[in-house]
Amino acid sequence: MPPAHPFDTSYLQAGEDGDKLKEECGVFGVTGVADASNFVALGLHALQHRGQEAGGIVSHDPEQGFQSARRFGYVRDNFTSQDVMQTLPGPLAIGHVRYSTAGSKGQTAIRDVQPFFGEFAMGGAAIAHNGNITNANALRRELIERGSIFQSSSDSECIIHLMARSLQRTIPERMEDALRRVEGAFSIVAMTRTKLIGVRDPLGVRPLVLGKIGEGWALSSETCALDIIGAEFIREIAPGEMVVITDKGVESQFPFRPQKPRFCIFEHVYFSRPDSILGGRSVYETREAIGRELAKEAPVEADLVCPVPDSGTPAAIGYSLQSGIPYAMGIIRNQYMGRTFIEPTEQIRNMGVRLKLNVNRALIRGKRVILVDDSVVRGTTSRKIKEMILDAGAKEVHFRIASPPTAWPCFYGVDTPQREKLLAATMSEEEMRDHLQVDSLKFISLDGLYRAVGEAKGRNSDQPQYCDACFSGEYPVIPSDQVEEGFQMKAAE
Ligand code: SF4
Repeated sequence: MPPAHPFDTSYLQAGEDGDKLKEECGVFGVTGVADASNFVALGLHALQHRGQEAGGIVSHDPEQGFQSARRFGYVRDNFTSQDVMQTLPGPLAIGHVRYSTAGSKGQTAIRDVQPFFGEFAMGGAAIAHNGNITNANALRRELIERGSIFQSSSDSECIIHLMARSLQRTIPERMEDALRRVEGAFSIVAMTRTKLIGVRDPLGVRPLVLGKIGEGWALSSETCALDIIGAEFIREIAPGEMVVITDKGVESQFPFRPQKPRFCIFEHVYFSRPDSILGGRSVYETREAIGRELAKEAPVEADLVCPVPDSGTPAAIGYSLQSGIPYAMGIIRNQYMGRTFIEPTEQIRNMGVRLKLNVNRALIRGKRVILVDDSVVRGTTSRKIKEMILDAGAKEVHFRIASPPTAWPCFYGVDTPQREKLLAATMSEEEMRDHLQVDSLKFISLDGLYRAVGEAKGRNSDQPQYCDACFSGEYPVIPSDQVEEGFQMKAAE
């Protein structure tokens, strides 16, 4: 169990009762700069939205060799003190922030905190993995039968053991070998004594970008973390690409069987930070475009458009611009919840969403309000927000959702409740509207979402351009572990 933290309000940060999908992990690496671990700590801080449970950094210094630090909690609380950072010297470092998606979910053990490290005949290597391996159970069984001793409950550790068993000569070759056996989603940042390595799975489900900092290089889950260290964004690592970065520069190769990319469309809607660039477009602009599409698809007469902060904000602005209905901050988020001095007692927990969000009563009273949110998962938070808005004297409440109904779990590195717990898995849109007791409820269509991310003709149903399995139930990689455990895939139409 993570230690109890007196200021810990992480139970509120991602939806006080698990009512938001949670991004899994963020990865970051730097080479060719003095004290690389300081840059990695800053990068991880910028990626904290991708995982708040724990973080770790591994560095390499020619004299002191590999060093590592792994901690529970936020980057700012763990990787800012000189005492810690001076234990991580050297010009090469990688790091990871984690929200557990596999392994001891919600109860991370320190041994599950990445980066993982392996000592091989040709030297050590550390890896940090974002994504989820969908055949990890089968691989783990096979590896244990052949004598591997696992240290953690994480699916990512399979990669280290597969590398150990590979007969290839170099670490990058062993990594390639290992990753050819792995199914699912992976964006990996790894390091040896002299190399920084980045790899993306052939579908490119999770993001990974390359940046330049002085004479050195950086790899990051998102561009916002390049900005914080003053690195220039060079390009995205392509789906199926492996880059090996040394003091001679960046070498690129494509070691996997080519496949049509299927990037996670939910990164555009919610997971990535709005100041990041994805697929050559600003995430903020995409979210605004989603709001515009939503206004075209689901207009309603109202007095105000209000976002559910913070992730609903750009879509609400887009809805307002398209519809001409004024935008207003009808709900205010307490920015300082993360540092409150309140003990999370049962009584405080029961206050739930009110601790995090407050209604701007003077604005709302007597108004017909459109609330724009990024998603509805279990519906519990939406219901409480609606109650708060009505308590504040709103005349009508209309929900507009910037993603299609989330009816299927994600098995590619996002924590999703079981299918039965997803509101959209068991109810139609009308039933959800009645359940939430709102005047109207509309979700953006899948085609509308595709248009907003730049696919003018919408979704190509024969060959979808993105992974959208949590909306469509069409999984680009069969989640074999889950199927083995009884998960029922959608029947072919
Ligand atoms: S299932 Fe959903 S959240 Fe998961 S990778 Fe696909 S689009 Fe993203």
